[in-house]
Amino acid sequence: MESKQLQGVAVIGGGPAGLMAAEALAAAGVRVDLYDAMPSVGRKFLLAGRGGMNITHSEPYAAFVARYGSRAGCLQPMLDKFTPDDLRAWVHGLGIDTFVGTSGRVFPTEMKAAPMLRAWLHRLRESGVHFHQRHRWLGWSDGGALRFETPDGEHEVRRSAVILALGGASWARLGSDGAWQALLAGRGVDVAPLVPANCGFNASWSSHFAEKYAGQPLTTVAIGGRKGQLVITATGIEGSLVYALSAGIRDRIAAHGSATIELDLLPDWPLQRVQQELSHPRGSRSMSSFLKSRLQIKGVKTGLLHEALDKEAFHDPMRVAAALKALPVTLHAARPIDEAISSAGGVRFEALDGTMLKAVPGVFVAGEMLDWEAPTGGYLLTACFASGLAAGRDVLRYLSEPS
Ligand SMILES: Cc1cc2nc3c(=O)[nH]c(=O)nc-3n(C[C@H](O)[C@H](O)[C@H](O)COP(=O)(O)OP(=O)(O)OC[C@H]3O[C@@H](n4cnc5c(N)ncnc54)[C@H](O)[C@@H]3O)c2cc1C
Repeated sequence: MESKQLQGVAVIGGGPAGLMAAEALAAAGVRVDLYDAMPSVGRKFLLAGRGGMNITHSEPYAAFVARYGSRAGCLQPMLDKFTPDDLRAWVHGLGIDTFVGTSGRVFPTEMKAAPMLRAWLHRLRESGVHFHQRHRWLGWSDGGALRFETPDGEHEVRRSAVILALGGASWARLGSDGAWQALLAGRGVDVAPLVPANCGFNASWSSHFAEKYAGQPLTTVAIGGRKGQLVITATGIEGSLVYALSAGIRDRIAAHGSATIELDLLPDWPLQRVQQELSHPRGSRSMSSFLKSRLQIKGVKTGLLHEALDKEAFHDPMRVAAALKALPVTLHAARPIDEAISSAGGVRFEALDGTMLKAVPGVFVAGEMLDWEAPTGGYLLTACFASGLAAGRDVLRYLSEPS
């Protein structure tokens, strides 16, 4: 009987999860063929580096793990074997230094992904990983072979084990389009539908407000006591504070049809102090210039007050004070998944034995296509790397078992 190892392993998907899985296998001397639909690998990884690549976070490990919410227990065994410290050491091994930013986030020096990816791909090629770009996985043939669409027509490939690391469904033009959901569901794999995570939301701005303020940042506001920044868009809101709260907002919209958040436009000012300031006589000044001189409220913040308050309320200092501390904004829908930073949903952990699909033995899954989500801050990449490594090691164990 042919040994499992002789046919080697197919890793499908060349993002951080797939590349990490390939590295673990190649390091153990296993033949690895890595397939990707795109002309080059790691496109989303490179995009993540454009705005300042944040690879992991330096907060205490227990707090770090808790960021994965209800899936923390499922991911922890993988994270334990590739902790944020391990990740930093691994990046250093690629000849790239890292530093901790003021927020505790960890970045590679220069904050770029390209030098890291270049060094990593070089190391992978040196270790014998065979790359096959422009190979789109289409599922399985009736005989159980892997089917790929390639520039030379359809190819069928057989391997002893397969690792799927096909990503979520955001930014489809970079390669991850979520088409695998139907392929796996067709094999009886339990998949939670992919939904946007770390995403913006639609609000019902007046056309006047949207035209005047789209693109304007709101620096240091708070929602539910959490301070941060958001940006007004033509359709609603986005930005780091919104992303951080997006899972809860998304789920509230799914349950109730809409979610109303309360924006604190003066998070460093207690309500009482705002009321005191607005109790001063206004004289002949307009309300807008009064707000500007007493509280530095102007521009987009004044625009928001006009959106939330009718004319009468806008001239009532106590109602304005209340609105400045808790301005209601009703959100109706998450922005489309293609615009999101990441996806929630995916292959449910209950469908897995380790990282292997219970329904399709010999097929393993890693990265964002697993059913977990996390905020931005390096948590996404860390879990992709850690689950890629776990899948690679699970395959090594699987290959060593008698066939
Ligand atoms: C704008 C932006 C900024 C981000 N910034 C950060 C950040 O700073 N820090 C952080 O931790 N995370 C960040 N992320 C998230 C992070 O990039 C992703 O979570 C991560 O890349 C997911 O890794 P993955 O390997 O699971 O999937 P991906 O990186 O999506 O890779 C999947 C690969 O599979 C291939 N593929 C898909 N379908 C097929 C198919 N049928 N056949 C063959 N190949 C296929 C794709 O072409 C792709 O190369 C950011 C994401 C975005 C969009």
